[in-house]
Amino acid sequence: MPRPRKFRRVERPPAFICFKPRAVPFRNLKKVTLSLDEFEAIRLADHEGLEHAEAADRMNISRPTFTRLIEAARHKTAQAIVEGAALIIEGGAVDVEGDFCRCPRCGGVREHRRGGHHERCGYCGTEHDCNDTQPITEEKQS
Ligand SMILES: [Zn+2]
Repeated sequence: MPRPRKFRRVERPPAFICFKPRAVPFRNLKKVTLSLDEFEAIRLADHEGLEHAEAADRMNISRPTFTRLIEAARHKTAQAIVEGAALIIEGGAVDVEGDFCRCPRCGGVREHRRGGHHERCGYCGTEHDCNDTQPITEEKQS
C-alpha cells in the first residue's frame, strides 16, 4: 500500500504564478516549474529569513526535507534567471491556508484579511467580485 502523501503547509501563495522575459512569446521560452511548496520554502528562508528548523516547522515537514526542498527551489530559480526561462509556480501536495482570491484579469493573488473582500484588484485596478475569481491552487491530488 502506498504511503499516504502528507500535505505541506503553505501560508502565503505567490502574488503571481508566472514570470517571463519581456517581449519573448511564452511558447518560445523554456519553462521552469517551481511547485508551491518549493515557493514557500524560498519565501520562508530567503524572504522572511527564517532558520531551516523554524521554516520546516511552519511547513509541517522535517528539517532534512526542508533542506532538500529549498535546495531544489533555489536551483530552479537560478536556472530560470540564468538561462532566461519562464518561471511558473504551480502544483505540489500542499495545503494553502487563509482566504485568497485571484484577479481574473492579471492573475494577481491577494488575501481577504479579516473576512473582508476587495472591490478592485490591488495590482491592475480592475473591479472584480471576489466570489467570482479563479481558484488559487488546482484540486488536491491524493
Ligand atoms: Zn488584477
